[in-house]
Amino acid sequence: MENKAVFKEFATEFRGEMILPEDDQYDAARQLWNGLYDRYPAGVARCESPQEVIAAVNFARENDVMVAVKGGGHDYAGNSVCNDGLVIDLSPMHKVEVDEHQKTARVEGGATVGQFDAKAQKYGLATTTGTASNIGIGGLALGGGSGYLSRRFGMTIDNVLSVDIVTAEGNLVKANESENEDLFWAVRGGGGNFGIVTAFKFKLHEVGPEVLSFQAYFPYEDSGLVLQFYREFMRKAPDELSCYAFFLKVPPVEPFPPEYHGKTTCAFIACHSGNPEKGRAELQSLKTFGNPFLSFIQPMEYTAIQKSFDAGMPKGLRWFTRAHYLDKLSDTAIETLIKNTELLPGPFTVAYLEPMGGEVNRVDLAATAFPHRDAAYSLHIFPGWDDPSKDGENIKWAKEFSRAMQIEATGGVYVNLLSQDEKERVKAAYGENYDRLARVKRKWDPDNFFSMNHNIVPEG
Ligand SMILES: Cc1cc2nc3c(=O)[nH]c(=O)nc-3n(C[C@H](O)[C@H](O)[C@H](O)COP(=O)(O)OP(=O)(O)OC[C@H]3O[C@@H](n4cnc5c(N)ncnc54)[C@H](O)[C@@H]3O)c2cc1C
Repeated sequence: MENKAVFKEFATEFRGEMILPEDDQYDAARQLWNGLYDRYPAGVARCESPQEVIAAVNFARENDVMVAVKGGGHDYAGNSVCNDGLVIDLSPMHKVEVDEHQKTARVEGGATVGQFDAKAQKYGLATTTGTASNIGIGGLALGGGSGYLSRRFGMTIDNVLSVDIVTAEGNLVKANESENEDLFWAVRGGGGNFGIVTAFKFKLHEVGPEVLSFQAYFPYEDSGLVLQFYREFMRKAPDELSCYAFFLKVPPVEPFPPEYHGKTTCAFIACHSGNPEKGRAELQSLKTFGNPFLSFIQPMEYTAIQKSFDAGMPKGLRWFTRAHYLDKLSDTAIETLIKNTELLPGPFTVAYLEPMGGEVNRVDLAATAFPHRDAAYSLHIFPGWDDPSKDGENIKWAKEFSRAMQIEATGGVYVNLLSQDEKERVKAAYGENYDRLARVKRKWDPDNFFSMNHNIVPEG
């Protein structure tokens, strides 16, 4: 039967919503957060239950159809939509159930960070998630997951207690410390290679409802001093404090002084999630450093600080990415960062250092498949623009900047920050765990059915 007819027939049997190219919702269903990718699947199966996920997996396997799995649709490499194949869209599966006594949450595989944070905060609880509310928990938690709480509570993967996962064979299995341990190890850092997670169980911690937000924006000319100070500050920073060092263009809005609008600034953007009095004291030296043209410290709801980057990263723009891990911030690294950020190409372009350390660094290297725990910083070079005619200059800037930083970097890269054109860096993302991951892949997905991801080839 012709591909189109096969999909039509499946649509009549599928119990969830099946969206085909002729349907009104098709364009919305195939669009990703990153407007750089424009793909046309043969169908989008919107699943509301594990049974529907199983039906979609079985249909695709039996008909030799390519599969892409979509959680929050925020993959930088656009892996959650494929051409011609089937998109298994988990977004209707976003239920979050909190057990406030056990301090755990059961989160369906299509929930977003914002949905998870909002529900957990009703009980004064949270766990490490990313710093943008529309990212999917699925992609985040399978690749690693870092954010304002990771220095305090470890990465998102360090807080996963169990997963329910649909395998390539179409079986729904559990993976945790006592069941399918190899799979449990692999899904914590190995991405979507091993199956479709229909639900995660997370460990939660007491957080908020308010945390301390601190931001300071410095004239670009001060960047060298700012980063030297940052390096020293982060060496001694407590686990409750996470401070990012950002290069960005000053937004043309109040309260930013008009004379800085559109200019590059070097900024501290920090969150202290512990005791507020202690937080104010621990932020004191950041607060009094240098001559920022704007700075503020204020209590903020945890759910609000988690959304504070959303406006700067809207859906549908064009985004490109390059990333590195750094084990230190050397003088040369600082010089290279400054040299490459004076003229940021796109209106939404940023480059930032995210601090690692704290609890991320204390978790045993062998405990999960994430291999970059020893790094001190994650560097993200992240151009954002809207005009397709500017693709070339934005991508070129990121590539040249990345190349210049390479010598200062560990050689590793966060799998969730890889771009589509970086096939040769996939092994570096899984690092020393690659061979073990490939063996687990061989056991659970020998035919590489789940290949639309930063792929681990089944072998070993
Ligand atoms: C604006 C923005 C901010 C970000 N901030 C952070 C941050 O603060 N910290 C951080 O660590 N990362 C961050 N990231 C990176 C983010 O973790 C990845 O982009 C992640 O893959 C997004 O997950 P998703 O479910 O939205 O993506 P999708 O595009 O839906 O999926 C990404 C990959 O995961 C697979 N996948 C998704 N859900 C499942 C599932 N349930 N089962 C099996 N496979 C699945 C997909 O097949 C695909 O290969 C950010 C990304 C963006 C775009």
